[in-house]
Order: sequence, then C-alpha cells, then structure tokens
Amino acid sequence: MKKSIIQKIQQSLTRWYRENSLDLPWRKTDDPYQVWVSEVMLQQTRIETVIPYYNRFMEKFPDVEKLAGSDIQQVLKRWEGLGYYARARNLHKAAQVICEKFQGRLPDTREELLTLPGIGGYISAAIASISFHIPAAVVDGNVKRVLARLFMDATPINATGEKNQFETYAVKLLDPDQPGDFNQAIMELGQRICKPGKPVCSDCPVQEFCMVFQADKVGQYPVRVVKKSIPHKKMNYAIVFQGEKCLLLRRPAEGLLGDLWEFPGYEQDRQTDQPEKQLADKIRRMTGIRISVKEKIGTAAHAYTHFKVTADIYLCFYKSGEIRLDGPTEHQWILPEEIRQFPCHKLIHKIFPMLDRLVNQTETF
Ligand code: SF4
Repeated sequence: MKKSIIQKIQQSLTRWYRENSLDLPWRKTDDPYQVWVSEVMLQQTRIETVIPYYNRFMEKFPDVEKLAGSDIQQVLKRWEGLGYYARARNLHKAAQVICEKFQGRLPDTREELLTLPGIGGYISAAIASISFHIPAAVVDGNVKRVLARLFMDATPINATGEKNQFETYAVKLLDPDQPGDFNQAIMELGQRICKPGKPVCSDCPVQEFCMVFQADKVGQYPVRVVKKSIPHKKMNYAIVFQGEKCLLLRRPAEGLLGDLWEFPGYEQDRQTDQPEKQLADKIRRMTGIRISVKEKIGTAAHAYTHFKVTADIYLCFYKSGEIRLDGPTEHQWILPEEIRQFPCHKLIHKIFPMLDRLVNQTETF
C-alpha cells in the first residue's frame, strides 16, 4: 500500500473516531491506571459488559495504591462474573509491584510496562500510546480482523505464530503523531463497524481503501483456522451440611479459576454406576471428612472458553472427621445466605438457586 494511501486511511480513521467515538467512562481520561484497568477488562469481553464492572471497580479501587493494599478476595469479588480471573490476580500483583518498584506510578516505557505481571504486547502498547503518546501499535482480535480485510490478507487471524504478519501491517498503518487516537479508532472500528459476522461497510470511513471491499470479497475475509471442538467435562459437586452450615472450599491461587470459592467437587473421570460412593470417596480424600450422600438435587451446566462442564449437584451431610485439605487452600463452614459474600465462579452461581430451595424446604435438615 502506498504511503499516500496510508496517510489517507490515518486521516479518515482518526476523523471518524473523533466525530463518532462512544462515550465510555475510561475515555474521559488518559490516566494510565484507568487505561490499564479498562484494557485488561476489555480483553475477551464486550464493551457493554465491561462498563458496569469498570465503574464498580474504580469506585472500590480508585488508584494503584488502593488496589495494591486490598485483599485479593475483595478484588476477585468485584471481578466476579467477568471471567478470566487470572486477569484480576495479575492486576493485583502488578499494582503491588508498581508500588514497590515504581513509587505507585505506572512506568512510562513499554519495556518497563512489559515487566509487570499480566502486561503483554497488546496492553503495553495501549497504555504507552494512549497515556504516554508513544507510537506503539496495538494488535488484538478486532484489529487483526480489520487489517486482514483492509489488506486482503488470507493469513488465518486465529493461528498461533501469525501475529507478526498483522503487527507489520499495524506498525505500517499507525499514525505516529497521534498513536493513542489511532489505536482506539482502529479498535473501535473493529468493534462497531468491521464486525466479525456482517461488517457495516456502508458506514465505514475507510471503505474506499479497503481491498476486500473493492474486490467484492468481504464475506471471504478474515480467514480462520477451524478449531477442534472443546472438551466436555462431567463434574459432581457436594453441598455438605453440618448443622445449618455448609462447606465451602477455596481453590489454589495458581491455575484455573484460582483463589475462587466453590463447593467440594471433582471431575468424574469415567462412567460409574455408583456416583454417590465415588463422590463420598473423593470428598474424603480432598477434605479429610466422611459424608453421607442424601440425594441428587439438580444439574448445572456452563461453557467456559476452553471446555464445557455439566455437573450433578448432591445434597450431603457431614458424618465424621477433621478437615485436612488436599488441593484446596482454605475451608469455611458458612450459612447458606453468606455464600454471595464469597467470590465464586459461574458454575457455582448456577447452584445458588438450588441452595436457596434447600433452605426453604424445612425437611432438608
Ligand atoms: Fe471492514 Fe467493510 Fe470497512 Fe472493509 S469496508 S474495513 S470490510 S467495514
């Protein structure tokens, strides 16, 4: 693409952005902390979903010091429902590093930003360009889609290791005089106009320069690698009562859904004709206590990004033994109405109504 065309694309895109950009809470400032939090939340998540989470998070953690000094459980509680919980844990860890090493201020170079937990190429480029006006090009899924169409490039946008190709385009296209506005413009174009399904080419400010539009091949781009179907896990969870309280466990900090709370449960690795016995055995190994399994009270299902889960939920009662955890890092016996105070993952939220029903049935206990 000729330099003169690139300049026209830059002008058209930034003009469109200034006249049409959405009125979003994180756009009212170029404060690096606010830009950072918003960009972390926006990864893998739609704008409309992020807005209320962002506002509630800023209310509770208005600056780096406040976030760094807070307990991770409070941070996870504000994040609850947004998914990808490693993002919240990394924000919290990075805030502590910023306070220890950078006097509570986000560093103003990409190299230093990249040393912080959870900050990779995309987020460092977003903060550097929006808050510090450094010419760093952002490349996320939305941007790759726009670039694949603009340049009519058949490189699969979801293939691993293909980012460099799109990075080359992004760097070529970036307006070095206004990198923050340009980056936000191309991201917003991808979110609102050059959408995955049907792009709204009639409203597109760069339509006249778009190679797939000119070639009448919009429907054929971007190209994607067809991914294998995601695995489906079968789980069993136990709501274990001792008197009026039920048992809640905290997952290990590292790994999937780290630090979140859940009922004792396990992945059923093979078909069994005695799920109740298997559940009691697994719970004994995981917690050290013996339980009796009264009955199955329902089924919950949830699709996470990399797998789906269908879980059977059992009402159980404590029989004997002392808690000795193998796997979970902490336990609490809680009243059912206290469960909403704990950060829990989505599947556990789907069990809340079953717990409410149990409490309302007097014959449960
Ligand atoms: Fe995307 Fe259509 Fe604009 Fe091309 S013309 S960049 S396909 S919205």
